[in-house]
Amino acid sequence: MSSANVVTKSSLAHLTNRSLRTISFFMNLRQFQKIIKDTYFEKDSKRGTWQTFGWLVEEIGELSKDIKRKDKKAQEYELGDCLAWLVSLANLLEIDASAAIEKYAKGCPKCKKMPCACPEPKK
Ligand SMILES: [Zn+2]
Repeated sequence: MSSANVVTKSSLAHLTNRSLRTISFFMNLRQFQKIIKDTYFEKDSKRGTWQTFGWLVEEIGELSKDIKRKDKKAQEYELGDCLAWLVSLANLLEIDASAAIEKYAKGCPKCKKMPCACPEPKK
């Protein structure tokens, strides 16, 4: 296992104990991408990249509604769907999601600090 896959308890302090147990016992990102590929790649391939992207956007829209409603259980459920669709898209684009996030393994890729010390972008 590469250092990018190491999950420390302190880096996940914001997660619930149940979520932590799920991560510890269930899977890392590489395993998750493989599971999503084995489960959905045939369907995803038939649907195509743009349609799959559309489903991801729709799931993100559903997550936004649950955030506004402050429905924690629904937020967790929708976040899982968003991650699954994002990884489905990575599979179609032939991107290793674990490699894609490696730039964050040592903190902010811009300022190289953890926590990030970059100024907030102006809107
Ligand atoms: Zn930064």
